[in-house]
Amino acid sequence: MRKKFKIVVLFISVFSIAFWSCDTNKTKESTEKNPEDVVVEKPNVAVPTFNQDSAFLYVEEQVAFGPRVPNTAKHDQCAAYLINKLKSFGLSVIVQEAKVKAFDNSTLNIKNIIAELNPEATERILLTAHWDTRPWADQDIKEKNKPILGANDGGSGVGVLLEVARIISQNNPRVGVDIILFDAEDYGQPDGTMIEQKSDTYCLGSQYWSKNLHKVNYRPIYGILLDMVGAKGATFTKEGNSVYYAPGIVSKVWAAANKIGYSNHFVNLNTGWITDDHLYINSLAGIPTIDILHHDLATQSNFGSYWHTHNDNMEAVDRNTLKAVGQTLLEVIYNE
Ligand SMILES: [Zn+2]
Repeated sequence: MRKKFKIVVLFISVFSIAFWSCDTNKTKESTEKNPEDVVVEKPNVAVPTFNQDSAFLYVEEQVAFGPRVPNTAKHDQCAAYLINKLKSFGLSVIVQEAKVKAFDNSTLNIKNIIAELNPEATERILLTAHWDTRPWADQDIKEKNKPILGANDGGSGVGVLLEVARIISQNNPRVGVDIILFDAEDYGQPDGTMIEQKSDTYCLGSQYWSKNLHKVNYRPIYGILLDMVGAKGATFTKEGNSVYYAPGIVSKVWAAANKIGYSNHFVNLNTGWITDDHLYINSLAGIPTIDILHHDLATQSNFGSYWHTHNDNMEAVDRNTLKAVGQTLLEVIYNE
């Protein structure tokens, strides 16, 4: 994922007045109180319990393959694991295979893995994460050219969604649910590596899918993206593109987290714009989609210190955070 964010931070700190004034429409969207912020009380429904140990195991099982970089054998092996796991829950699985062009002009063989619960339901929710991992440790100080394990960046979101898949397959919610594991999210051009900094080099799987939906007229009511949702004590803030494109969904998810006691993770703070899979789902496919993403208030990048480094291993993943995110998703799904 990337990272208009760094630029935004710079702008805010150095050119804050200019930044806000030249982007008034978007700023307006993200600061005005939305009518949908008013939460209507609904009767309590039975929401199943998210098992954090199960989710943690699913992260471990992905990480055990090693880095999951497109065009490598481990990537293929992990794809087979994910497909089999989703099928083992009784979900129908569609694998969208494609060839996409990376920033360095290489051709990547990608697989977007799509699992459907209750395909006949017309009211549907899309849940998504990316399953590939970064081919470089470009934020590390050592071994920058070696691929990372991506326990958190990639692995954690998928681990949570596999556990959600297991639970919804056993406890039918009223709405249909689609889980899409996008490929080639993290193959984006590292900063400053070439003279020409290209745009839209991240999120290749979701860009392809957004232009080539797996079903004609596919139209879920909204989408929720998970990215880096496993760090100990992780805080999730209201990210700019999410608030711009889907303010009501941000309010709904944050209210659900708050209701079940996770306001320590889902903090009530609006933060900058991130280019992540949800941007293309919103802008190309027109499906209002939010990003639940670790925003670290203590680092300069505002990403976790493990981000795009070799420290993104199982030690960067905490069961309690997986639980907070997974249980919040279930709270949302079963209240639809
Ligand atoms: Zn990443």
